[in-house]
Amino acid sequence: MDRIDSVLNALPQDLVTRDPDITARYLTDFRKYLTGATRAVLRPRTREDVALIVRLCAEHGVPLVPQAGNTSYCAAATPSAAGDELVVSLERLNAIRELDAANLSLTAEAGCVLSVLQEAADAAGLLLPLDLGSRQSCQIGGNLSTNAGGVSVLKYGMARDLVLGLEAVLPDGTLLEVLQPLRKNNTGYDVKQLLLGAEGTLGIITAVSLKLVRKPVQTVTAFLAISQIAALTTILGEAQAYTGENITSFEYVSDHSLKLLLAAKPEARHPLSEASAHYVLLEAQTASPVFPLEDAVSALLERLMEAGLVTDGTLAAGGAQRDALWELREHIPEAEVAFGGSIKHDVSVRTSRLPAFIEAASALVETHSQGGRLSIYGHVGDGNVHFNVLAPEGAVASDYKAWFEREVAARIYDLAVEMGGSYSAEYGIGLVKKGLMARYGSPEKTALMRAVKAAVDPQGIMNPGKVV
Ligand SMILES: Cc1cc2nc3c(=O)[nH]c(=O)nc-3n(C[C@H](O)[C@H](O)[C@H](O)COP(=O)(O)OP(=O)(O)OC[C@H]3O[C@@H](n4cnc5c(N)ncnc54)[C@H](O)[C@@H]3O)c2cc1C
Repeated sequence: MDRIDSVLNALPQDLVTRDPDITARYLTDFRKYLTGATRAVLRPRTREDVALIVRLCAEHGVPLVPQAGNTSYCAAATPSAAGDELVVSLERLNAIRELDAANLSLTAEAGCVLSVLQEAADAAGLLLPLDLGSRQSCQIGGNLSTNAGGVSVLKYGMARDLVLGLEAVLPDGTLLEVLQPLRKNNTGYDVKQLLLGAEGTLGIITAVSLKLVRKPVQTVTAFLAISQIAALTTILGEAQAYTGENITSFEYVSDHSLKLLLAAKPEARHPLSEASAHYVLLEAQTASPVFPLEDAVSALLERLMEAGLVTDGTLAAGGAQRDALWELREHIPEAEVAFGGSIKHDVSVRTSRLPAFIEAASALVETHSQGGRLSIYGHVGDGNVHFNVLAPEGAVASDYKAWFEREVAARIYDLAVEMGGSYSAEYGIGLVKKGLMARYGSPEKTALMRAVKAAVDPQGIMNPGKVV
């Protein structure tokens, strides 16, 4: 009997799935970069099950790969092809333990799907202000382990900023409970921060206490044509000023991306009468029943048009129009897939430098890409742009992607880093971006990360090969 059999045989068998027809769906990452192998997927129902699994794996030196919704864009939840790691899926650990409306907090287990938690908050007249395109399949444990961003970061922050407390199983099987939903708790090191954004390398999150906010009672959504990219920063500043810092989303859509979307989805409509090179999807929300939000946005548009910064715009008149505008933004990744998929560069720079970055990076692609097609969009209110490139029409997408990643991609990352930015704004490192971390990461930071990993997980059994 080998080490993996020792673990599998010691576990209650209802936690162990060995059937290859079932385990197959846990083995390939969302973007289909990699397919791994495993002898079994373990599906705990309780935190005690998780602790037992980790304890047994620690005893026998068997590596584990925590997996949530498996929507990682950098293969962070995919086991190695050697088949020597066990996948731990948190999907059955999915109870909402408590919603304390007066405390504006929600305590839920790691396997809760994000949209389920959003709906629970909504039913209580509150808002869970974490939102991203994968909301129907990603799980809160995955969101916290990747420190997810998304479309509401501008007002509410990254996933990390919404965490009040955390419960997790450490790599030796110890249950760490710092789950109290407290806004103030200065009692030594804030150890929960170690697990947030750790991509499963320091332990398995089993539950979390999250901040809620009052549900917005007014929402104004606008789609604007921008005269020139350089105006983005000014427009964002004016929008914040006019709405009293109530801009929740400030999303950029290039005409390249909108055209792809309209070609891939013939049922979608261009929201404006004339095309422009650049657009912004702007959303303002407030929970105040008396703040004149609509007037504020109308005055903002008047001011921006008078100044020549915005050339055209439309305000969503209701929920259906709002949904249609958001679909234009959120379905761009699908449109890219319909045209052979994109080479993604998820980069960030400070918002004041973003227009210059987009211009300079576009010029690099123009010069070096041998006809590659741009698709640029993203959360520019946070300084984060998805600067993507598609193969030229008629090229074999996979060959072109391999060539581009070898010959051109580094120029784009070099530019972002030279401008003081990040080579991975919100998707993390996982397996796919380890090369970028080696090239651009600070050696001192990497050394400290390795020291933390060695201290918390001396056997290296938690999600080996990822991040560090
Ligand atoms: C359509 C689409 C849109 C997206 N939009 C955004 C976006 O706007 N912003 C953004 O940041 N990301 C976005 N993503 C990427 C992805 O959805 C996020 O990274 C998400 O947070 C991953 O959650 P998941 O549940 O799928 O985690 P998984 O992919 O299953 O896992 C991610 C990482 O977390 C670890 N992990 C999972 N659960 C646990 C746990 N309980 N304890 C410890 N470690 C764990 C895994 O080992 C892995 O390292 C998008 C993806 C898609 C497909």
